[in-house]
Amino acid sequence: MEKRRPRIVILGGGFAGGYVARHLFDRDIHFDAEVIIVDRNNYFVFYPLLVEAGTGSLEPRHCTVPIREFAKDSDLLMGEVKSIDSASNKISLTLCGDDHVRELEYDHLVVALGSVTRVLPESVCSGVTEHAFDVKYMSDAIAIRDRAVELLELANATDDEEERRRLLHFIIVGGNVTGIEVVGELEVFVRSATSMYPNIRSEDCQFTVIELAPKILPILPDNLIRWASKTLANRGITLWTGKSVKEVHADHVITSDDEKVPCSTVIWTAGIAPNPILKEFPDLPLNTHGGVDCEPTYRVKGHDNIWALGDCAGVPGPDGKPMPPLAQIAIRQAKQVANNIAAAHRGEPLTDGDVSVLGILVPLGRHKGVMNFKGIKIEGFMAWAMWRAVYLSKMPGFGRKLRVLFDWIVNFFSRRDYVQLGMNPDATREFKRSQ
Ligand SMILES: Cc1cc2nc3c(=O)[nH]c(=O)nc-3n(C[C@H](O)[C@H](O)[C@H](O)COP(=O)(O)OP(=O)(O)OC[C@H]3O[C@@H](n4cnc5c(N)ncnc54)[C@H](O)[C@@H]3O)c2cc1C
Repeated sequence: MEKRRPRIVILGGGFAGGYVARHLFDRDIHFDAEVIIVDRNNYFVFYPLLVEAGTGSLEPRHCTVPIREFAKDSDLLMGEVKSIDSASNKISLTLCGDDHVRELEYDHLVVALGSVTRVLPESVCSGVTEHAFDVKYMSDAIAIRDRAVELLELANATDDEEERRRLLHFIIVGGNVTGIEVVGELEVFVRSATSMYPNIRSEDCQFTVIELAPKILPILPDNLIRWASKTLANRGITLWTGKSVKEVHADHVITSDDEKVPCSTVIWTAGIAPNPILKEFPDLPLNTHGGVDCEPTYRVKGHDNIWALGDCAGVPGPDGKPMPPLAQIAIRQAKQVANNIAAAHRGEPLTDGDVSVLGILVPLGRHKGVMNFKGIKIEGFMAWAMWRAVYLSKMPGFGRKLRVLFDWIVNFFSRRDYVQLGMNPDATREFKRSQ
């Protein structure tokens, strides 16, 4: 009788899950398996380019990667995972557009369900869910662009100067990599548009970053932080450090030191948390941050055939601390997970994960950036060019690379697209002055 191929079910086809699916077919692994990815989308978002997609220098669709094309030796079930039953080696799921709950058996299960934006409890900061924008999904990027276009139109139509400044005040909460990238690109997008609006001056547009830590970009060395802070300040971007926001309202925020700041858009980039759906799977042990508790081999504690990696997993790295939630980490973890699954299947010893951060690149907009790569620290145009070169090279697929490159070339010679796509209802959410 022909022996059945082991079935590997991967929950989440993002950076982590997608790359595991690919590496399971690497020649050097010598593993003949059936691989099924379960993801609610048929694409994954190439996050490093999401902010550019939201601020008009890239067509939004071009920062996505189709899973079937990327992991072409695997199968995809487009749906939502509902439960994990480790005793019977089964998961249940519903397919997209169908409420019927199906079961799927596995020999090995890989949990790679990513993360969500971390929202603080209402007692610490209220109004975030109702009034603030996220930068996590494709729809968020489109919503922020639509919102900015809408506000430019409204600001142009009003004769009230104070109201115009409020409408064009964008507050970004969280001054780490994502928040700084957002403010840098948004400032270019909004200020460059002002030449089309006769009643708006560049000075009417305000951008404020509010960061709880004593400095922005705490992940970078001090000299790069100073350079980035000065560069952003010279562009009229206000950086408030050592304070936070305790209330978000439709037309203002209240800071932790009780200052009322009029604004009309709050973008929340104050950290991430593992996917909360993990809490609905009692078979998975979770750590204090809500991530799947793993051995250094990526094997989930207490299980022989369940593995986790990427943003949703707490896997100790070489220094004993959990590896950070970054795409560069997830991609390299994926190769190690694929190797360990094959080794476990053959009864061979497993290898501990040993990936660490190679470098941090932060684009600041206006062709400038900062970079710390393996101890090499660069600022200015070179860092920005490196950022683009690195992520263009990492974008999977020749066709996708070409699309991104053409968008950038077109963007270099022409004005950004100021069309409102109107695909996200949040973009037109009520934002009149509250009482
Ligand atoms: C704006 C932004 C910019 C970033 N820039 C960088 C950068 O420059 N460099 C860097 O290294 N990292 C960057 N990151 C971090 C990086 O994107 C993440 O670390 C990486 O995506 C983690 O991969 P993952 O596979 O764990 O999660 P994801 O890539 O988010 O994949 C999770 C997958 O699970 C699926 N899923 C979730 N829930 C369910 C469910 N219930 N059922 C079915 N499917 C589900 C999702 O659809 C998704 O495809 C950035 C992140 C953001 C948000």
